[in-house]
This record gives sequence, C-alpha cells and structure tokens, in this order.
Amino acid sequence: MMAAPPAPLINFPKDHRYWATHPTITLIDQCSNVQQLKQIHARMLRLGLFFDPFSASKLLHSAALSHSPSLHYARDLFDQIPHPNLYSWNTLIRAYAASPYVTRSISMFVRLLHESVERPSKFTYPFVIKASAKLSDLRLGKAVQGMVIKEGLSSDLFVNNCLIHFYMECGCLDMALQVFWSMPKRDVVSWNSMINGLAQNEYPDEAVNFFRRMEEAGVIPNDVTMVGVLSACGKTGDAELGRWLHSYIENNGIGMGLILGNAVLDMYTKCSSMEQARLFFDNMVDKDIISWTTMIAGYARIGDFSAARQLFDSLPRKDIAAWNALISGYEQNGRPKEAIAVFHELQLSKAAKPDEVTLVSALSACSRLGAMELGGWIHVYTRKEVVRLNCYLVTALIDMYSKCGDLQKAREVFQSAEKRDVFVWSSMIAGLGMHGRGRDAVEMFQRMQEANVRPNSVTFTNLLSACSHSGLVEEGREFFHQMESVYKIPPGMEHYAAMVDILGRAGQLDDATEFIQKMPMSPGASVWGALLGACRLYKNVDLAEHAGSHLLNIEPDNHGAYVLLSNIYAESGKWDKVSDLRKRMRDAGLKKEAGCSSIEVEGTVHEFLVGDNTHPMSKKIYLKLEEMTSRLKSAGYVPNKSEVLQLVEEENMQEIALHLHSERLALAFGLLTLPPSQPIRIVKNLRVCQDCHSVVKLVSKLYDREIVLRDRYRFHHFIGGECSCMDFW
Ligand code: ZN
Ligand code: ZN
Repeated sequence: MMAAPPAPLINFPKDHRYWATHPTITLIDQCSNVQQLKQIHARMLRLGLFFDPFSASKLLHSAALSHSPSLHYARDLFDQIPHPNLYSWNTLIRAYAASPYVTRSISMFVRLLHESVERPSKFTYPFVIKASAKLSDLRLGKAVQGMVIKEGLSSDLFVNNCLIHFYMECGCLDMALQVFWSMPKRDVVSWNSMINGLAQNEYPDEAVNFFRRMEEAGVIPNDVTMVGVLSACGKTGDAELGRWLHSYIENNGIGMGLILGNAVLDMYTKCSSMEQARLFFDNMVDKDIISWTTMIAGYARIGDFSAARQLFDSLPRKDIAAWNALISGYEQNGRPKEAIAVFHELQLSKAAKPDEVTLVSALSACSRLGAMELGGWIHVYTRKEVVRLNCYLVTALIDMYSKCGDLQKAREVFQSAEKRDVFVWSSMIAGLGMHGRGRDAVEMFQRMQEANVRPNSVTFTNLLSACSHSGLVEEGREFFHQMESVYKIPPGMEHYAAMVDILGRAGQLDDATEFIQKMPMSPGASVWGALLGACRLYKNVDLAEHAGSHLLNIEPDNHGAYVLLSNIYAESGKWDKVSDLRKRMRDAGLKKEAGCSSIEVEGTVHEFLVGDNTHPMSKKIYLKLEEMTSRLKSAGYVPNKSEVLQLVEEENMQEIALHLHSERLALAFGLLTLPPSQPIRIVKNLRVCQDCHSVVKLVSKLYDREIVLRDRYRFHHFIGGECSCMDFW
C-alpha cells in the first residue's frame, strides 16, 4: 500500500470565539490521556459546556485524533452529543478511516447524509475517499466521486489528491490520470501520488517520465517524490538512472532521512550495483533493520551468498526480519536446501521467534525440495505455537502438500481453513490440477464462486493448466472466453500459453496454430514452448521447426528448447538436423542446468546429481541399481536404445548411461531406506526422460511400491506399473 497524501486540516466552526477561551475548554489541549479527558468531560457536563456543539466537538477531536486516541471513548462521546455539528461528524469519519475499522468510516458517512442538516464538505470527502482506498472498493469510491462533482468540489486540491491515490490503489490508472489532468492546480502531493502509484502498479517507466514532467512543470520534488522515483528505477534496473537520481538528491538538498536512504539502497541492490550499495550502506549515518535486510537480500539476489552470510553474521542484533532476509534470499534464488539449513539454525539458536514470513519461506523451500516431513513439521509447529493460520500460511501449506505429492493433506488444510481468500482457492485448484484431477479443479472453481470469492488472473492460470493436464479441451476454451467476457480479466501471456498447451496436448495442432495467429500480442517464449512440446508428443516435425525457431529467436539460450527440437529430429531419423543443432548449441556455449533429484528420508533431504557417487551410501546404491536392472531385464525390460542417441535434458552432451540419471539414484536410495508402507517421493528439476519413466513404472510393479515423481512440468504417480500421466508429459 502506498502512503496516503497528507490530510487537510479540519476547519473549526465559526462561532467558537467565546467558548474557545473558557478555561475548561483550553485545558483540553493539555490532556495527554483518556483519563484526563474523562475528567474534563465530567466537568463540562456539570457546567453545561458539553451541550455547546463547539465545545463537545473539541473534546471529541481530542479523544479521536490525539497522539493516544481512544476510538471507543470517542464513539461514546459522539453518541452523547445531542446535535453533532459537521466538525464532529468529520472527526469521527476521519478517525475511523485511519483505524482498522475502516468500514465504520463509511457507515458514519452514510449516517451523516441521512441525519445531519449540514452537507458533507471538502473536509469530509477526503477521508471517505481514503476509506474507500483502504477497502479497495472501486464502486464505492466512484460513487463518492460522483457526489464530489455534485457538491461542486471537483476542483478541490485535497479531494483530487485523495482521488488520485484512491484510483491508484485500485489499479485504475486511467481514472487516476483523468483526475490528475483535469485538476486546475496541482501541488507536489498530486505529482507524488502519480509517481508512487505508477511505480507500484508496475509502470516504472511512466513513473520516471512523470518525474521528468514534474521537473519541467517547475514543481520542486521532495523526499516522497524521490522514494517513488527510486522505487521505479529499481524496477527498471537502470543503474545509470539510479546513480543520476542519487546525485540529484544530493545536489538539490533533499534531506536524506532514513526512509529515503533505504530507498537509495534498495534501488542500488535492485539494479545489481552491489558495490555502490555497499559504499552507500557503509556511509549511512542512520541504519535500521530495513537497511541491513535490503543489503542481505541484495547479495542473495546476485548469488553472492557468502557476502550475504557475512553481513548477516556481522549484524549486531539479529531480529526475525534479518533471519527472514537470509532464508528468503536462499529460497528465492534457487537454494532451498540452504534456506532450510538456516531455518534449522534459527530454531536451534532460539535467537528469534519465527513469524509468518519465516514459515512461508521455509514451506516454500520444502515445496521445491519435496521435503514433506519438514513441511509437515512446520504445520505441526504452527499448531503448537498457536500461530494463527492466515491466508498466506494456508496457501503455503496447500502448495507444500500438493507439490510434495500429498493431495489428501492439501485438501485437509483447505477444508479446515477458517478463511479462504482468492489465493487459498487458487492454490487448491493448482494442487488438484497438478495431480491430474481436472474435473475436481473445475468443481473447486465453481465452489469458489458460490463462496463469492472473485477469481483473479492466477486462478485462471491454475484452472487452465488443470484443464490441460486432464485433457479438458472444451472446458478450457470456455474458461478462456469467460475470463474477459464475464470476469473482466484480460488474458495475459501465461493464459495464452496454457490455452496453446490445452489444444496442443489434445492433438489439435491446427487449432493451436490458428489460436497463436489470432493473439492480440506477439506470442512469447512460453506460447512457442507449449506448441513445441505438443509437436514432440504428436511427432509433427514441420510445426516443431516453426515453433522451435520462434522460441530460439526469443530465448537463444533455452537449453530445453534445443533438447526438445533435437529429440523430435532424432525420433524422425533426421540425423543431419540433429548434428546441426548440436553444433549450434556448442557454438552458443550453452550452459545448462545439471539434472538433480532429491528425496527426503527421515526429515533429511538427499540430493543426487547425474552419475553421482558422493553419497555416503553410494556403494549400496549402485549395488541396488544393478539388482534393479537385472530384475527389470528378467521381467522383459529393454533399455530404450533410441533414447541413448537422443539428447536428454540432464545429459552432459556425451551420452551418459541412462541408469545413472539422478532420479534412478534417488529411487535406489529410496528403495534401500524407506519402509514399503511409505511412498517414495522424488523431486526432479528437469523433465524425466522416457527411459527412466518406463523404469520407474516397472519398479512400482516389481517392487510393489508407490512412487511419486515430480519433474519440472508435472507429477507422475506410479502404482502397479502404471503412471497417472498416462505416458503423456
Ligand atoms: Zn532418465
Ligand atoms: Zn508419468
């Protein structure tokens, strides 16, 4: 939420000359707590002063808006005033708007309209608009704007500044712009609201443009302006602009307080200028925990984990925010294992108490690793420590259980949740979708609407992907159309990609191609990637070439695209094309992700790389692999020779023996260490190859084990020699 523009002063009633000088009334200003106010209140009642509207309103103002206000007492007072004046109404509307009980501000406003002889004024509307902004209630705010126009206040500076802020909070940039340009006069607050609003609504370039326009208009920027432009600059990643802004602040004498200093720091870290950030940080006179955590997160973002750690260790007092910076730094930058290690360290050191942010980060790390035991432990911890399960945590728990392969547990969390917001519903839809339960996901979507929760763009991404994994083509088409026509959510790139995936998986390659041609925007990598994947399933070489070349134009370093394309060529015997592609890959010097599979045993996550022999149990694992191979062979298994000639994502250019793929090492380890009653859950970072897929299928039958394998794209649930993906992935 962005900072609201400062409030106008409340006007005092006109007939206050006599009462204002009464000794009892002058005492009100000297009160520092409610107790003292109550004493004055009693005296005012005795003297009859309380029945003077001005005197009563002065007391009310003090109760509602002083440094230590008591809204409860203020409301009592208000209810005792026989005929509250507009000033009293405004006081209460304003106090509620600033409090957690924002809706009461609106109900007071409605009462004012009905009960008072006075009309709302330019000292009423700003607070009603602020309340609407806090509630993100677009209809309400628009209605209030209508009243503002009727009352002839549409050129009032304060009212308009509040309207800009309101429309920005609701994400209605057009309306904010309309208000801004229709203003007869604009002050620095008007410009600040535009700049901050644009930056927060992810229009950083426009925010910077507005800053330039502001300068041209001769309006002098203040620290709030600069915080907004710096945040926009961080989002563009334009380090040069950032340096210029920094010197602009220094050259124009804009006071560098802590908030602005932290904004400069944040800008440098977001622009990956860590050296400059460090220089600035070391020279900061005032630092707070935000300064430290900004630096820690900045180092983590550029992958300099040792610098992040060093800084963390040098922090004199580590509160939970610092721990969170380190944990989420690891988690969000592809180091989930380290994130969990730090989380354990925090637990052991008892240096600070994990909060909701810590737990969400740790759960998300568990999801990535498939570490369900630890994730489940965090779930238990929330119960033990009576951490209130808010929607963030519920969403994280559903996500963790789904991604670790336990859909049942995910459902239980969903069902027991006290409150379900759009993210809770969306994560449940995603969970069902990734487990191939498309129909259930669609039903969940219907239930969500019965519960009056409005879907958002994430909901539709998850819903469409659920349709895709379950082959629900007609449903997918229908939902895609409804997005804009019914829910007024314009489809984004991810929705187009999901739709291409739906059509492609169903074998409707012509429809998919036509769909792409009709897209209103130029198709992104994800769209071409979806088409390419479908071409591999249906062995359509020509279309694959078309999709592949588009994809590689957009992402020349997309290793997965080369692999897919090369395999399509190999499957159709076009070996000259295969070697062309390989040469291109070599020339491009592509770095690829190493294949890695992880498996959790008794709360410890074990990771295996391709051909890995570093595990302490390595000898036993390889013996187990040999045993597996011979049992499979006697059951009639023949290694897929064509696959050896193909590229697989984790192969290191030369053909590495298939049985050394990381998921097989993890599988052998799982067979050795996990009791037969427990499913073997493996998480792989890349797409599983065909040969490994058929091996795991056979193992599930021969060894009578339930095996859950999550690869980069979906879940494979193996039981009795069958996989839930129906060999389609
Ligand atoms: Zn494999
Ligand atoms: Zn499968």
